[in-house]
Amino acid sequence: MDEVLLAEPRGFCAGVDRAIEIVERALYKYGPPIYVRHEIVHNTYVVNDLRAKGAIFIEDLADVPPGATLVFSAHGVSKAVREEADRRGFQVYDATCPLVTKVHVEVAKLAKEGYEFIMIGHKGHPEVEGTMGQLSDGIYLVEDTADVAGVKPRGDKLAVVTQTTLSVDDAAEILAEVKRCFPNVREPKKQDICYATQNRQDAVKVMAPQVDLVIVVGSPTSSNSNRLRELAQRLGTEAYMVEGAADLKPEWFAARRRVGLTAGASAPDILVQQVIARLRELGALSIRSIEGVTESVHFPLPRGLGDRSMSEVAASRS
Ligand code: SF4
Repeated sequence: MDEVLLAEPRGFCAGVDRAIEIVERALYKYGPPIYVRHEIVHNTYVVNDLRAKGAIFIEDLADVPPGATLVFSAHGVSKAVREEADRRGFQVYDATCPLVTKVHVEVAKLAKEGYEFIMIGHKGHPEVEGTMGQLSDGIYLVEDTADVAGVKPRGDKLAVVTQTTLSVDDAAEILAEVKRCFPNVREPKKQDICYATQNRQDAVKVMAPQVDLVIVVGSPTSSNSNRLRELAQRLGTEAYMVEGAADLKPEWFAARRRVGLTAGASAPDILVQQVIARLRELGALSIRSIEGVTESVHFPLPRGLGDRSMSEVAASRS
């Protein structure tokens, strides 16, 4: 292998950064344990690291003791989960990505105006459960174009929302079918697929045709990481997703001249650096970034957690 090309941008997005920082700061402020509903972000390394620092990851709020501090994951929660947390009297910090919250707010607002919804997304993904769970009924999940014909709204006011981490191309195809079946459907003013998903997919579209093989750093549960691997494959380039350097198989690189490397929005840079170091061991002679979009998105922390710099928080924990 002569060269490794790095996709730009890759790795952490603003929503993931914020979610991890919320758990770190809650650990600093209250001390362990801090309970987190669901994996804070879909990355094994991040979850294990926070677990070692005192976070306890749960799925069922019945597993959280009274009076505990609880963080909702970046994927968001349903109304029922929020109400149950209130009822049980937990101190709650909400790490839902503001771009997911934006979709929840849109659903609540339009539901009040009498709209029903088609949600384009993946069944069982926590973000989809959270968004669909903003309403008790009148929201229909479609995973592919074939599902659209099965939607039978009760009224004539119908809006469409999407999961934030879908394949941009798949979502466009499903949306076209939705519009064909329901010509008056209301679309979001700005698409729900987030800037980070869009930018990472755009970067793979630039990179994949230039390389013989694409490596995506990400965990199998990460929706946006899976979409990056699929996208490279669709563009005709062999692609693998790895949790880290240990997953790289030397035989993948035999007779490959150029390898492309990217990372999902929940994959920390330390894993990318370890993969680069391993690729050097496997024979990579040079590492080069491909020019891409520079991201400058930053989301504020919840009230009560942002009063110290992160370096102070880190210093107090070391
Ligand atoms: Fe937010 Fe997008 Fe990152 Fe998900 S991938 S946390 S929606 S910015």
